[in-house]
Amino acid sequence: MARILVTDPVNQRLIELLKSCGHEVTYTPEISRDELLEIVGNYDALIVRSGTRVDREVLEVGARGRLRIVARAGSGLDNIDVGYAKKLGIEVLNAPSGATQSVAELTIGLMISATRMIHRLWSEVLEGRWRKEMGFELAGKTLLIIGFGRIGRRVAEIAKALGMRVLAYDVRDVSEEARAMGIELVNDLCRALSEADVVSLHVPLNDSTKGLIDGEKLFNCFKRGSILVNTSRGSVVDPRAVLEALERGVLSFYATDVLEEEPPRNEVELKLVKHPRALVTPHVGAQTLEAQLRIAEEIGKKLVERLGCSE
Ligand code: NAD
Repeated sequence: MARILVTDPVNQRLIELLKSCGHEVTYTPEISRDELLEIVGNYDALIVRSGTRVDREVLEVGARGRLRIVARAGSGLDNIDVGYAKKLGIEVLNAPSGATQSVAELTIGLMISATRMIHRLWSEVLEGRWRKEMGFELAGKTLLIIGFGRIGRRVAEIAKALGMRVLAYDVRDVSEEARAMGIELVNDLCRALSEADVVSLHVPLNDSTKGLIDGEKLFNCFKRGSILVNTSRGSVVDPRAVLEALERGVLSFYATDVLEEEPPRNEVELKLVKHPRALVTPHVGAQTLEAQLRIAEEIGKKLVERLGCSE
């Protein structure tokens, strides 16, 4: 029997699955950083989502005790120091595919909100107004997907079905997937940005993607009046440059599910969330019953494979 600590809200199915295998599960989604440091060494496995920062300090304290697995109930691993965990002999697990459809659907939703202003018109109706606004269709427009992985590919499929022309950019060789889906691959990012009406970000946050969308690209490459959609991570863009691009009309809209600091705390992001041509959702890409259930099954299966099951 293993002792497992869960420090972020997860689907109850995961907890039931682990308990049914005879493991002891402590569910503390409200735990403070100090409390975590105090008790993490008493557990064999730590399960987190994006709310818990598993940095060197947490890993060191854990490794001094009995911690040997950190599991992310989701895909992105940017809140976990994976390299340092490896050094300490702690295995890091994730559930990379459970949220793909949900994030792709939210991405398309953000695109449609950006072109039809659903959020703004609705809030005006609530205030008793009945103002109409001219929008435009996504059909016939060019979408550039940056990061042609699981989510990027699913967004591409849906966008194609909507009648968009889809371009894709990736640092991996994704030519086979692109060919199979009839998607145009691009190598010259700046040129592709100059052709795109909508740019959608689907890269992980790492050293190569931090600030990928910076002032240089926004002001020298982006097509004037384009829409930027971000369901990847807040730090993949430079929020200051995005704000300036909105103010100068380079971007006509910024729709994002993610911020550098969640909830927003710094001056730039506080301005960004209030910008009339921005739409910000509170990191809900994977927040669907279906995604959470799939993630619970995916990560639960991996944990049981490692920790055993005495059904
Ligand atoms: P994935 O690993 O399947 O795809 C990521 C793709 O990005 C890969 O093909 C990779 O080669 C490419 N890439 C990496 N660096 C790049 C770069 N510098 N330029 C261009 N391409 C690059 O991942 P996925 O499942 O599609 O998820 C993508 C990201 O979405 C996750 O890493 C996570 O940050 C984010 N995500 C957000 C939510 C949410 O709630 N909003 C939920 C799940 C995932």
